[in-house]
Parts: sequence; structure tokens; C-alpha cells
Amino acid sequence: MTANSSKDVTYRSVYLAGVEGERFDVRVADGRFVSIEKTSAPTEEPGERLWLSPGVIDLHTHLAWTDFHHDDQLKRSTDEIEAMQVQAFEATLRTGVTSARDAGGLLASTARRLREQYGQELKVFASGDALGGQDSAKGSSHLEQRVAENVKDGANWIKIFATGGLGSPPDKVLNPLLSKEEFFTIVRTAHTARTKVLVHVWGGLALDWAIEARVDSVEHGIYMTEEQASRLAKAGVSYIPTAAIYRIAADPAGALALKPPFLDHAARAAEAHPDAIRYAQREGVRIGFGTDFATPELNGHNLEELYTLINCGLTREEAWRAATEVAADILGHGDQLGRIRPGYTADAILFNADPHQAKNEEELRSSIVSVITGRLR
Ligand SMILES: [Zn+2]
Repeated sequence: MTANSSKDVTYRSVYLAGVEGERFDVRVADGRFVSIEKTSAPTEEPGERLWLSPGVIDLHTHLAWTDFHHDDQLKRSTDEIEAMQVQAFEATLRTGVTSARDAGGLLASTARRLREQYGQELKVFASGDALGGQDSAKGSSHLEQRVAENVKDGANWIKIFATGGLGSPPDKVLNPLLSKEEFFTIVRTAHTARTKVLVHVWGGLALDWAIEARVDSVEHGIYMTEEQASRLAKAGVSYIPTAAIYRIAADPAGALALKPPFLDHAARAAEAHPDAIRYAQREGVRIGFGTDFATPELNGHNLEELYTLINCGLTREEAWRAATEVAADILGHGDQLGRIRPGYTADAILFNADPHQAKNEEELRSSIVSVITGRLR
């Protein structure tokens, strides 16, 4: 169930996720938290315990994609694709994700239209049509124009595909898809237009460039070295590992049901990834929550990433912060999103059990009573 918080409402005597023992009265009006006050003389009535957490921010979704293999999406009709995109918005929101950064494929104008036409409450920060190998060797004016088109359409981010991914042969996956000069041209053009840059990069030389160019976030970083993690931290570049998807992809019985060679490639990635995440954590890199979930089987299971991050060494609190306040900071909206605080956007999840105690994604998801969406300034 989802609820719009534009009306005046008070959540009485609720626990705040991560705050032990105390209960609060949380007042919401006009889509914002107005006050959070300790409940005076709370009465303990069995069966009435509710927990409130900030809405989750998924920093890496592909809401416009319907299939793992792009060719499969091309076989679908436009109407079918749009219906599936609307379902992706709904499933993502229903599981408590109130804001999503789309990591490529979804035009900002399409996101706006889906919001208006279907009354979608999910807040979407789009990066439009990603730049990558197809833009190489076409000159810097081509790159500048591609960035400008996305910015004009309303993109909040520019996405660069800097290396291959699951579809590439393992011995070629770290080969940069653009030249260093092209990479820097894109970053410089985006930053001049006050637009942030996120980079799909599994490691290698392109990761060095991303650090040197001070992009805003790097995604996946499967083969990031300890030394790169240290430089990433010093450069203040955020890291979105998207850890769960590689485990799912490596599982022949998993939701993606991949076949070799994708399956074997995913297994190698899933094996290497935890080291990269540990390096990042040890070096003090800002780690954010992102799923890379893009198919109907996966949409709505986004909270799985919390458990994979914990499995990779984050504490429960760190994983939750990566999905809320840290993610909001990475988005550049840390003054409005990701926290239950007076003046903040009233995006929240109401649970009937302590969300920090849930053992797995399924248990956590089934304890959601409602998802509350507020208004961004
Ligand atoms: Zn992605």
C-alpha cells in the first residue's frame, strides 16, 4: 500500500528504525515532516507496534529496461514496453524505494510523462541516454551535443559506459570503451552544465580516469584494487557496488536464469566483488545503495541489496544509511531526502516489525505496512 503525505497526518507512538526503545509522534503536513517528538507516556498495546524508516533511495535502477538482453526488448510492442515500465515504477515504490536514480535508458521526459499520465509517485532522477562505445571516434562536438541533448531533456545525471559488463568476455571486460580524451570531454561538458556524472566501470584504466576526472559516482567497480579504493576515497568519488545483482546473475536457478557464457562471467564477478567492497569500506569510500534491477522478476526485490552489502562486510546500520541518508547525499539532496527530520520530504516506510531485525529481504518486505511519499521542494 502506498500513501501520499500531502495531507496533515500524525503517526503516533511509532518507533524510528535504528533508534532503540523510544517512541515518537511524527507529524507530517504538505508532504514534509513537521515535527518528531517523543511520545509522552506511551502505552504498550500488543499488536500495535509500528516502525518508521526513511524511504529507500535506489541509486542504480533501469526503469525503462524490460529484459536482460536488449534484443528481447526490441521484440516487444511500444504499448507492452510502456505497461511494463509502469509496473516497474509501481513494484519499486511498493517495496519502499521512494526515490530512484535511473542509471541509463530512461529519458527524463519519459519519467515525467509516466509520473503525470499514470499518477506515479516514485521520484526519479534520470540520466537519459547513456554515452559509451557507440559515441567513440566521433569527435568532441558529438560528445558535447549528446550531453547537451540529455541535459535539455531534463537529465539529472550523465551516464558513461566506460567498460564492458556481464556481456563482455572476461579478458576484455576492463578495456575502456572510450579514449581518455573522450572520457574527460564528457565529464567536463556535464560538469560545466552543472550535471553530475555516474560511470559504469568494472575497474582498470577507466576507473583511474574516473578518479582523476572526479566524476560523482562509480558503479560496480568489480575489480577495483585496494590502491584505487584509496584514491577514490581521497577524490571524494562515491561508489555504488550493486552487489546483489552479480550473485543473482551467477545463480543458474536465479531470477535472471542466465546461460553460459554469461553465467560463468557472472560467477567470476560475484567472486571478486566482495574484495572491492571491503577495500572501499576500509579506505573510507562513500558507499551507496543501488540494485541494477531491471526485469519484472527483480523489480520489487530491491531491499535484497541491504543483505548483500551486510554480507560483504557493512554493518546493518551502514547498509541502511547507504540506502537512505548517504544515498540522499550522493544524489545531492541530502538536505531534503533520506532522513526523518523536520523540514525533510516525508518519504518513509511504515513497518509492523523492526526493519533492522528482519533476517532477509522477504521478511523485511512482508513487514511493510505502507509506503509514504512526500513532496520535494
Ligand atoms: Zn546498470
